[in-house]
Amino acid sequence: MRCESCGKPATQIRDEYSYCDRCWAANFSKTGGVPFRTVLKDSLERMGLMREDGEAMNDWVIRLKAHTPRTLNSLIKQ
Ligand SMILES: [Zn+2]
Repeated sequence: MRCESCGKPATQIRDEYSYCDRCWAANFSKTGGVPFRTVLKDSLERMGLMREDGEAMNDWVIRLKAHTPRTLNSLIKQ
């Protein structure tokens, strides 16, 4: 089954819809009525942690982990 929005393989399949994870999150993942992706983007901007132009993904991840509380870092699988 394919995502009815973008055509990628669907992972969220219900009688009412079929979406991939990304499109499902865009449509349904909200906090306080605001899409989660918007909340995350605003938070990263406020913390100065948006991915910079030309920044390698691995370098960005290292920068993000440096701002992650030690208790949360222990939960992240390496
Ligand atoms: Zn999709």
